[in-house]
Amino acid sequence: KPILGIETSCDETGVALLRWDPEKPGRGLLSHALFSQIALHAEYGGVVPELASRDHVRKLLPLVRQALKDAGLTTADLGGVAYTAGPGLVGALLVGASAARAMAWALGVPAIGVHHMEGHLLAPLLEVDPPETPFVALLVSGGHSMLVEVQAIGQYRILGDTLDDAAGEAFDKTAKMMGLPYPGGPALAALAEQGTPGAFRFSRPMTDRPGLDFSFSGLKTQVLLAWQASDRSDQTRADIARGFQEAIVDTLAIKCRRALAATGAKRLVIAGGVGANKRLREQLGQAASDDGFRVYFPRLAFCTDNGAMIALAGAIRLASGQHQDETIAVHPRWSLETLPAA
Ligand code: ATP
Ligand code: MG
Ligand code: FE
Repeated sequence: KPILGIETSCDETGVALLRWDPEKPGRGLLSHALFSQIALHAEYGGVVPELASRDHVRKLLPLVRQALKDAGLTTADLGGVAYTAGPGLVGALLVGASAARAMAWALGVPAIGVHHMEGHLLAPLLEVDPPETPFVALLVSGGHSMLVEVQAIGQYRILGDTLDDAAGEAFDKTAKMMGLPYPGGPALAALAEQGTPGAFRFSRPMTDRPGLDFSFSGLKTQVLLAWQASDRSDQTRADIARGFQEAIVDTLAIKCRRALAATGAKRLVIAGGVGANKRLREQLGQAASDDGFRVYFPRLAFCTDNGAMIALAGAIRLASGQHQDETIAVHPRWSLETLPAA
């Protein structure tokens, strides 16, 4: 039976209906609907938690109705409800968790709280040619930059993490410093396309020593100094954007290759919002053919937050008999490594 997935961890309200059948890859998604709060937060230059919660309250049920209508289903058809239980903004998480639990209780179906990063990490399983385990996952989003060894679904070992800014955060903050509108990541990436290759070169942080951790805040400072010392013309802005993007993408690619070598894995999954970055996709595609591994990406729409990845992660766990007690519990901080096997 179809599973309803609900995502409300930050500034996107995402809903999806999925009939999960591992034998039919790429065919289970029945509908999905998303509302992004970007415009709501833009004038503040970042996400305002209380405004986010209130907007999830406004948008969630209309989106659920929309997704049901698009799939030609009613609530009576649902076999379970999956919702993001963390990590994320506590108020925003509580909106999704309360709605999901209430619906599950009213319908007499099980509900399951999903780890948001497990959702990101499993998103490529929604595609026609999904990766098998084991694999290494690079999770690069607004709040995380991690390399994860995935032995099996639910069995995660964190190989590397960021010591300061996440990759998406570095994109957003750098864009803001150069006067690009919020959220800057995609705008900076688009601008980089017009930059002159090699005009600016920034360091590849922490690649000169062993290890799989990341640090991007020093890079951000280098960019700020270069920008302040420059003529601040449009072309210079694009040149700096290009140099910055190359530095981040190179750094991520170097660490991915290292993680594959360290684990002996032959498959690499890229997920999270920065996974939408064109240069990152190109460069890792090239590395894969050079080194003889396979790389898997979610479709662009499922790199950033969405309900489909939550429906998927929840459906897999519900299928193995897991579900939550009838309480509303969320985990604003939650380590992937503490999850049970699926
Ligand atoms: P988390 O998943 O860690 O809780 P989040 O949910 O806010 O964080 P996502 O929605 O997965 O993060 O991704 C949003 C991030 O992805 C933003 O930082 C955004 O700038 C970045 N991003 C989106 N598209 C691109 C792109 N093409 N190039 C670089 N960064 C991008
Ligand atoms: Mg977001
Ligand atoms: Fe996310």
